[in-house]
Amino acid sequence: MQISKRDFLKRLGLGGAGLLGGAALADEYVASKNRLPPGSVGDPDNVWFGKNIFPLGHTIEDVPSCVLKDGKILQPAREIPLFHETDVVVVGGGPAGFAAAVAAARNGAKVALVERYGSLGGLFTNGMVLIMLCTSVKEDGRYRLVTDGLTREFAERAKALGPYAYLESRRGSADRASFHWQPTVDPEAAKYLMDRMVEEAKIDMFFHCWGVDTVQDGGKVLGVVFESKQGRQAILAKQVVDATGDGDVLFAAGGDYRQITHGIGHVVRLGNMDRITAKHPPKGPDGKAKPGRWPMRSNEGNPSTWWGNTGTGPKGNGLDVRDLTAAEIGFRKEWWEHVAAMRQEPGWEQVFIANTCSQIGPRVTRLVAAEAVVDRAEYRKGARPADTVGVFGEDGRHKAPLYVPYRQLLPKGVDNLLCAGRMLGAPDTCDTFRLICPCFVTGEAAGTAAALCAKRGVAPRNLPYAELRAALERAKVCLG
Ligand SMILES: Cc1cc2nc3c(=O)[nH]c(=O)nc-3n(C[C@H](O)[C@H](O)[C@H](O)COP(=O)(O)OP(=O)(O)OC[C@H]3O[C@@H](n4cnc5c(N)ncnc54)[C@H](O)[C@@H]3O)c2cc1C
Repeated sequence: MQISKRDFLKRLGLGGAGLLGGAALADEYVASKNRLPPGSVGDPDNVWFGKNIFPLGHTIEDVPSCVLKDGKILQPAREIPLFHETDVVVVGGGPAGFAAAVAAARNGAKVALVERYGSLGGLFTNGMVLIMLCTSVKEDGRYRLVTDGLTREFAERAKALGPYAYLESRRGSADRASFHWQPTVDPEAAKYLMDRMVEEAKIDMFFHCWGVDTVQDGGKVLGVVFESKQGRQAILAKQVVDATGDGDVLFAAGGDYRQITHGIGHVVRLGNMDRITAKHPPKGPDGKAKPGRWPMRSNEGNPSTWWGNTGTGPKGNGLDVRDLTAAEIGFRKEWWEHVAAMRQEPGWEQVFIANTCSQIGPRVTRLVAAEAVVDRAEYRKGARPADTVGVFGEDGRHKAPLYVPYRQLLPKGVDNLLCAGRMLGAPDTCDTFRLICPCFVTGEAAGTAAALCAKRGVAPRNLPYAELRAALERAKVCLG
């Protein structure tokens, strides 16, 4: 029997407006008296969906397929359509790419931001890693915030989104003399805020675009090629920022890098933490704590959720799909089975997996061979480069601040390309460079420099440092 939406709501006793969710659900199943609009080719018995269905010409030209010749797979030469032209294109929308794009736009550049997934934040949001570390240094018993500029603005705006979006500091990290600021930000709040800030900066945002190649004139990068459901298309730009985390643009441009293995991490969030009635983690018959993580309460702004990862994860090549696939499957199995066992324990019955991260965490893969790479030994000796573009604070193991030279963002032998984020650093400093606030800091520096270079028409290595420093100071970036 078919009934109208109004009848359906009446039967539920839910007349009137408001219950949009109910109405939408009803619409999925109830044939409406409405007709399909002219031109629609959808199902007239299912107008709810049918009203959206119209014929569309092919939006992508067919290109010649690869051929198998003498046992080798060959790709024929082809023309790549020009999709967009801009001053600065940033590839990768994690903390580094987001900060780079906003900083470039605020410095007057027309900016395009290209991201392979459908939301900003990278490992911070889609990887659900959440804590903004490395913000301050302790001097004379008091903490001083060193990740100022965009990083601070972002954290303050996240705080203003309310208690569910933001937790001021991890337990035990507050200092009585002054405050060590390392907020935990809800991933959806961070995505929302990044969208707003990108919109405010009038950046051309392109999601679902996977950067796969560069357009070049010798060692000079002229733009990037990305792959999407529409095939391969190009964006031409005066300056390019690689913020892919893995140095994908650098690689395509033929830049040099050092590749390392690292722990491949994966994050889970548990829900109903406020319904755990157990007072302690359970013990086995031997009196020892049962294996696995047994969080007793939320560690987020939301009292119902807890986020965490299982140690460092398996060591692997974060560029190798076999390693990544094995890690994904292994992590999900481990957590599903652990949480199923948790629910068998008295007081833990209501815990469930709210979500597992949609972006797995290869912590570091390619490290750019930059004009300057300062290693830990040099930092221990107090390295403080004359071309500093940002400072990171304490990272839990190292107390002294790290000063980042501008030359660290510049790949050797490649022009018009700046690097930012977790592809920076030496093997013994990358565990600081890759943290969220440091990625914001190097992103802001790279984006600012890219905008100035685009405006002046100079290659990044020829940009006068004094000019870059003045722009960073205007943005309240801490340089010392
Ligand atoms: C398990 C785990 C726990 C962590 N915990 C913390 C923590 O508590 N605190 C902390 O500060 N840091 C933590 N980190 C580190 C931190 O989250 C990341 O290193 C940081 O987010 C890196 O920022 P990024 O912008 O350089 O790269 P990413 O965050 O990796 O962002 C890169 C972006 O580029 C996109 N991208 C990649 N390739 C392409 C391409 N070819 N084309 C288009 N787009 C592309 C990605 O989709 C992504 O959005 C953790 C990391 C892991 C793995």
